[in-house]
Amino acid sequence: MAAIDLLIAEFAKLPGIGRKTAQRLTFHLLQQSPEQARRLAAALSTVAEQVRPCRECGNPTEEQPCAICADPRRDASLLCVVEEASAVTVVERATGFRGRYHVLGGRLSPLDGVGPESLRLDRLVERVREGAVREVILATNPSMEGEVTATYIQQLLTGLGARVTRLARGLPMGGDLEYVDGVTLAHALSARQEVP
Ligand code: ZN
Repeated sequence: MAAIDLLIAEFAKLPGIGRKTAQRLTFHLLQQSPEQARRLAAALSTVAEQVRPCRECGNPTEEQPCAICADPRRDASLLCVVEEASAVTVVERATGFRGRYHVLGGRLSPLDGVGPESLRLDRLVERVREGAVREVILATNPSMEGEVTATYIQQLLTGLGARVTRLARGLPMGGDLEYVDGVTLAHALSARQEVP
């Protein structure tokens, strides 16, 4: 495959980027200085080679543990469970949350063959068992799979001594935390409810 087609094909694999956008990005880069393209390539390879999931929370990081887990000013007794690392950024930006996170790395979706073993659930149970966690906030996405995942985790954590709460209802169903506006998300977090 010609170099240009190869780059277009790679761009087109990214989420939200169709063939047309992939072509536009490629031709845009061709018009820039080679230096610009080199910076992009360097940033990509640094991310690929140096960023790994945090051994505690699963958030991508260059340091182990990540800056959030290592920050002594954050409340280690409060754990916010999210599906994807992108949700950490959203909660951080939109709310005043000062606890820590646990990134599952996906959601239960039996139809797509995603079962509990595909998610970072063992480490979550360990973290709760270690005893420092007082409350687990289930902040999975407001979707069918998110609901199923939250219910599963809630059952998994029963009897481990931590309080389990869910984001308040009222988040638009079928969505992703990433697309919820900050005010709504901050409210859902502060009005979180005890799981019966
Ligand atoms: Zn971490």
